Amino acid sequence: MPSVFIKTYGCQMNERDSEAVAAQLVAKGYTLAPTEAVADVVLLNTCSVRDFAEKKAIGKMQNLAADVRKNRPNVVLGFMGCMAQSRGQELIDKLPDVDLVLGTQKFHHAADYLDEILAGRRDKIVDVAEERGSEATIREHLLYGNADRNGDGHRPPLQVTAYVSIMQGCNQRCTFCIVPDTRGEERSRGIADIVAECRQLVAQGVKEITLLGQIVTSYGKRGFGRAELPLGQDAQQRVPTKEKSPFVQLLDAVHEIEGLERIRFTSPHPKGYGDDLIEAYARLPKLVESAHLPVQSGSDRVLKLMHRGYTRERFLGLVKKLRRVRPDIGITTDIIVGFPGETEDDFEQTLSLAREVEFDNAYLFKYSPRRDTPAAEMPDQVPLKIREERNHRLLDTINEIGRRKYDAFVGRRTQILVEGPSRKNPARMTGRTRCNKIVVFEGSERHRGQLLDVKITRAGSFTLYGDPAILGED
Ligand code: SAM
Repeated sequence: MPSVFIKTYGCQMNERDSEAVAAQLVAKGYTLAPTEAVADVVLLNTCSVRDFAEKKAIGKMQNLAADVRKNRPNVVLGFMGCMAQSRGQELIDKLPDVDLVLGTQKFHHAADYLDEILAGRRDKIVDVAEERGSEATIREHLLYGNADRNGDGHRPPLQVTAYVSIMQGCNQRCTFCIVPDTRGEERSRGIADIVAECRQLVAQGVKEITLLGQIVTSYGKRGFGRAELPLGQDAQQRVPTKEKSPFVQLLDAVHEIEGLERIRFTSPHPKGYGDDLIEAYARLPKLVESAHLPVQSGSDRVLKLMHRGYTRERFLGLVKKLRRVRPDIGITTDIIVGFPGETEDDFEQTLSLAREVEFDNAYLFKYSPRRDTPAAEMPDQVPLKIREERNHRLLDTINEIGRRKYDAFVGRRTQILVEGPSRKNPARMTGRTRCNKIVVFEGSERHRGQLLDVKITRAGSFTLYGDPAILGED
């Protein structure tokens, strides 16, 4: 059977989509190639959020195409995901060696399309149409990789954490963002369907689940997809009510799963954080002390230009409420620097907000104009040099806050969920605190999947180092 290599660009949603495609292909008999150089099929799962991400994927495909033309003419090349969706046929016109272009509502057709191309029944396939019910098609997981097919009795270690896609699309229309065009309208899976997937994962040993969506706080607000019907009895009892948003009802339902230890979610929208969600943090012990709250800017003027729907004050109020119910909560964010019209004073307000909140970490993005978005047409675009300089200054501030926050852990005992060997040094093990900090420690495979108390001995750059704590020790 052919082997496939998938390279993923961008967010966790893309990681999850790639995993589901890989799992579908493995179920059909494909193997997962360790590198693109030995694969029969190479797929690039693309991101369109910034121009840089698109350029990287196109550059990669150009290199692959040159190699394939010269050395391995039978290799199948494909683009999937956001850039595939927004550019479609244009990608094949530009890169004629590409065989497949698969949009964001079409991942579940990957295996069938590849079969047709590999069997020579079709030459090129471009499918970027909308598909009703596609939000419920990202469900296969790859907990064991190729393991079941090796036939040598060797079973690679278990995956302890898993992502579950609960919805697709975005209706926010932030003026900078291309995602509503690449991912389509918001569409949510039903609660019963999501819970069934989570239960299955837990039965296979998963201890922590991250619920995924572009804006998870909008989950179910526009009803549920037709593909979810009929709902099971369990779900019938959970028809959204006014008191609790559908997202909080989903959290309640997932929380009931026996054997599941931890629940995370990403990304919420700050304006979607109702009191019911704050209250859920107080009420649901499996919901960990962690929140990724994309603030984007600390200036009310810029937030308004971005159409974010909240003010600096409201954002700070939200942080305060969260810290009141969970004092140890880890808060991370996304920030865009150099949005059109951002003045030095606006930027200073972002710096001061970062200091005031004391984010545990932040993903910084230099504003990148995206086609067909209102911000790309706004006056006063900020020159690249200034965007870079502001990015640098903000990064220094975020790093300085991070250092202080991480140093404060030294000497403390904390619980981690052990995920597996450390990527940098596979002789050590790694786990995560409830507040989403990575802890590296001297351990062994027997620790995998355990909730372990560790004593933090040292802090590095956004990493903690610890020793398994000995019971009875102070
Ligand atoms: N759920 C997130 C939210 O609340 O906005 C959106 C996720 S988006 C795919 C990831 C991040 O990319 C955004 O939070 C934003 O900071 C950044 N981003 C989106 N469009 C951008 C652009 N045109 N230029 C630079 N960064 C951008």
